[in-house]
Amino acid sequence: MWRKVFAAALAPLLVIAVALLLLAGTGQMGAQARLVVEWAPAALAAFGLPVALHFNRSRAFFAVLSILVAWFALAHGADTSGFAGYALYDAICVFLPLNLIIFALIAERGVFTRAGSFRFLIIFLQVVFVAVVLWSESDKLAWLLQVPLFESALTRALSIAPPGLLMMLVAVLLLHGRLVLEPVPERAAFFGATVAVVLALYDGHQSPWTGTLLGAAGLTFMIALLQTSWRMAFLDELTGVPGRRALEEQLVKLDDAYVIAMVDVDHFKQFNDTWGHDAGDEVLRMIAARLAGVGAGGRVYRYGGEEFTLVFPGKEMRETLAALGALRKAIADETFVIRKRDRRAGDPRAGSARDSDEREVSITVSIGVAAPGAGGSTPSDVMRAADKALYRAKKNGRNQVVR
Ligand code: GH3
Ligand code: MG
Ligand code: MG
Repeated sequence: MWRKVFAAALAPLLVIAVALLLLAGTGQMGAQARLVVEWAPAALAAFGLPVALHFNRSRAFFAVLSILVAWFALAHGADTSGFAGYALYDAICVFLPLNLIIFALIAERGVFTRAGSFRFLIIFLQVVFVAVVLWSESDKLAWLLQVPLFESALTRALSIAPPGLLMMLVAVLLLHGRLVLEPVPERAAFFGATVAVVLALYDGHQSPWTGTLLGAAGLTFMIALLQTSWRMAFLDELTGVPGRRALEEQLVKLDDAYVIAMVDVDHFKQFNDTWGHDAGDEVLRMIAARLAGVGAGGRVYRYGGEEFTLVFPGKEMRETLAALGALRKAIADETFVIRKRDRRAGDPRAGSARDSDEREVSITVSIGVAAPGAGGSTPSDVMRAADKALYRAKKNGRNQVVR
């Protein structure tokens, strides 16, 4: 599990690391290079707004918008010393982590929709609040952002007032928890952005690295959008393994030696008819997971329906047959636990729809294997040959590997 969490968090953490490296180098930079380091990340993050809009990703849109508003306000208020500078900084320490929490938790409901306008309103009200505090120079309002909720070595060491510190802590813990529960790019972006925001803000309102790190926070969402669209294009939605498009790209990369196996679930139509389509989906997911662990360097692709393709780059036929045999046997020996209530609604044989009895079922697969012959066959020739071998496996009684 932690490998997946780490893999998801890798991209945002790299963005933060690069931002920190750039900042470490600003000492030797000229004034112009330094300006680029300060502005470029936020400018790049601003591209995230139209991209998020195009992909209809409202959570990313509003997160990036909050970050850019905070960055803009700080960039213009950073020189302000005294009351205004502190009030602005205290407000951002509270509102920015708060917004990351809100926008991570809300449902995906579009940007220019009724739900979206409430989200614009949240940001707008925060801006109004800060404007009122600054304009009125009201100590009472500013005090709200500095309530000494607790006093510790930490609050004395940092410039962040307790409300902001608390909000940051909650945001980091909560968004980290959500990433661990489901390690997907968007959740990694929310967690990474929160870490970047804390780093950007921890050293007071005139810290020279605020802009770069807030920009990095926005950039993590851009990267998550790219990763999500990559996944949508290349991964099969049901099983999570690479799909047909990824297979096509793998095929053109193959050299002289490789092995292709076509895997087809036996009597799957009947399985669906008996247990329902949802149970069938669940079994496909479990079979895909099994196929992914085939070994011998094999990679699994969902070819379509209940058919999968295994590609073994750089392997000879004899190197793969043992793995394929073991795979066939492992699937045949496994008992898949499915819930009876998954049976198709409306199916007269489904019994009570609320019945949550668990049933153990078994399933088998047939496998056809082929490798390029001496006569310079192409990957499509080899796939056709594997398909023919699969047909023979079916004809011979299924649940077998045929070459
Ligand atoms: P055989 O042993 O000859 O392969 O028999 P079969 O029933 O598996 O073969 P056939 O190709 O006739 O049926 C494939 C069935 O797989 C048809 C369809 O209902 C089912 N199927 C295809 N894709 C999915 C899917 O994504 N989910 C589920 N639950 N079923 C699927
Ligand atoms: Mg089939
Ligand atoms: Mg089948």
